[in-house]
Amino acid sequence: PAALARAEGLIARTPDFPVPGVLFRDIAPVLADADALRTVTGALAAPFEGAFDLVAGVEARGFLLAGAVAIAAGTGALPIRKAGKTPRPTASVDYALEYGVATIEAAGDLTGRRVLLVDDVLATGGTLRAATQLIERLGGAVAGVAVVLELTELGGRAAVPAAHAVFTA
Ligand code: 5GP
Repeated sequence: PAALARAEGLIARTPDFPVPGVLFRDIAPVLADADALRTVTGALAAPFEGAFDLVAGVEARGFLLAGAVAIAAGTGALPIRKAGKTPRPTASVDYALEYGVATIEAAGDLTGRRVLLVDDVLATGGTLRAATQLIERLGGAVAGVAVVLELTELGGRAAVPAAHAVFTA
């Protein structure tokens, strides 16, 4: 549809950021546009309607998407944070990034919760795979994984086979 195509056109591309050779995709212009934000938020959650009762987002852009999806769906939101930001983490997972290594953490008990995990970009898939492991270590069930943009040539789908991507590049 036209609204989705328009939203896709707002994704910015910056060569050689944050390191040479990487074409960085920035969804900030999509978030800043009311129609695009509503359209993309709806498209993220549509395949999982009724199947989740909590939305998790990975720091930092995932927070914005998780909050928007949660409000639209009438659920709560869970922040998955980089290491050292959570006062009493109950689970933590180390993982490899496209550029570097990282640890994510979260707090709480997700026993019995069906969690939709959202993020802006699926690159190598390391972040989202780690986040699904984190949700499971917290006792939750991953109801789905949804991203705004999948960078297909990086092969991240192998790490998160069931991921739903609104856009691919
Ligand atoms: P992955 O773990 O899939 O390699 O990387 C995904 C994470 O790295 C995402 O959370 C995202 O924030 C970041 N990332 C990797 N490449 C890009 C990119 O081109 N644009 C943006 N916005 N984030 C990226």
